[in-house]
Amino acid sequence: MSTLESQDHKDLRTAVAALARRHGPGYDRATLWAEAGKLGYLGVNLPEEYGGGGGGIAELSIVLEESGAEGCPLLMMIVSPAICATVIARFGTAEQRRGWLPGLADGSLTMAFGITEPDAGSNSHRITTTARRDGDDWLLTGRKVFVSGVDIADATLIVARTEDARTGSLKPCLFIVPRDAPGFGRRAIDMELQAEERQFELTLDDVRLPADALVGSEDAGLLQLFAGLNPERIMTAAFAIGMGRHALARAVDYAKTRQVWKTPIGAHQAIAHPLAQAHIELELARLMMQKAAALYDAGDDAGAGEAANMAKYAAGEACVRAVDQAVHTLGGNGLTREYGLGKLIAASRVARIAPVSREMILNYVSHQSLGLPKSY
Ligand SMILES: Cc1cc2nc3c(=O)[nH]c(=O)nc-3n(C[C@H](O)[C@H](O)[C@H](O)COP(=O)(O)OP(=O)(O)OC[C@H]3O[C@@H](n4cnc5c(N)ncnc54)[C@H](O)[C@@H]3O)c2cc1C
Repeated sequence: MSTLESQDHKDLRTAVAALARRHGPGYDRATLWAEAGKLGYLGVNLPEEYGGGGGGIAELSIVLEESGAEGCPLLMMIVSPAICATVIARFGTAEQRRGWLPGLADGSLTMAFGITEPDAGSNSHRITTTARRDGDDWLLTGRKVFVSGVDIADATLIVARTEDARTGSLKPCLFIVPRDAPGFGRRAIDMELQAEERQFELTLDDVRLPADALVGSEDAGLLQLFAGLNPERIMTAAFAIGMGRHALARAVDYAKTRQVWKTPIGAHQAIAHPLAQAHIELELARLMMQKAAALYDAGDDAGAGEAANMAKYAAGEACVRAVDQAVHTLGGNGLTREYGLGKLIAASRVARIAPVSREMILNYVSHQSLGLPKSY
């Protein structure tokens, strides 16, 4: 384990790993979520005055990584405490903070996050879900796709656009939409993933919301949105590193005992070296994740942006390769239900696609870090 971590962080890892190990890959999501919430792990990044742990994304990413490493990743941590609670804590009104943060911190409330749209995809400038005023209320209309956990979330933080009264241009804003709001429809998407959380296509058909459903200020929407997106990338890195570690550990155990010639298969370098490489890549990705979390927690949003993107990229790639090699190490058993690795082939791809794809991160680094021209 990294020596860059404080004793508190190491203790947190050990405690979360012990809890997650008791649940293991056959976990019941709701039970683990409730237990982790009660122990303060889900709100470890939130302000103490609202029942949180007073820590940051560094601590929250440890919780997600360790639960994933034991085969029971809490995917909703990427959205509920990391994006939604962060945005509410930093920009929400006093009432929104009082109403949501204690529940998000102890896990009794969950919030999903919806930005992706069918016709916009990676180009979030093209989102068309709009919010217009009707007296004091807001009316939201539009569509979202691939939104995780809407059925188990009390509300979804929806990214919509409002019209600037002065310029007429559309600016992004965040709205809290309760799960059962009239006009808020959802349809589960038939995914190949075997996961505890489902993805939904959402329809918003003149969903009427009170004035205080708007998070923070109408004019600071973009700033608020970005405040949530860095934690999202850092947490996706933690999700990927946890899954990669889980797969790698299964493969290493197997390679130490499975013997078909004179020695265990792990003695063959064709098996050992790719596993060693996977371990190195996961450790490197964790280093970048720690850098991103440290920058973000120190309040350096701009510096954290590059590091969070790079961490998400590195972790996604390391996870896909670790899972691929783990499955291969088990031979035929890599694809049996009993060993539980085959299903990770699809699951590991999530970290390469979401919340921002590998190519969009390479675009970001090409343009922002290297100053290369844009093709789009
Ligand atoms: C399991 C899962 C959970 C998800 N959960 C959520 C959620 O909770 N909330 C939410 O809002 N969204 C969620 N998403 C959506 C996710 O963020 C999107 O799938 C992702 O942003 C990519 O968008 P897209 O699927 O429309 O792909 P597209 O944008 O259509 O991209 C398709 C391919 O084209 C490539 N591409 C596109 N533009 C360029 C370019 N300019 N240069 C190079 N390549 C390019 C992409 O990299 C990708 O490989 C989830 C997705 C998955 C799979």
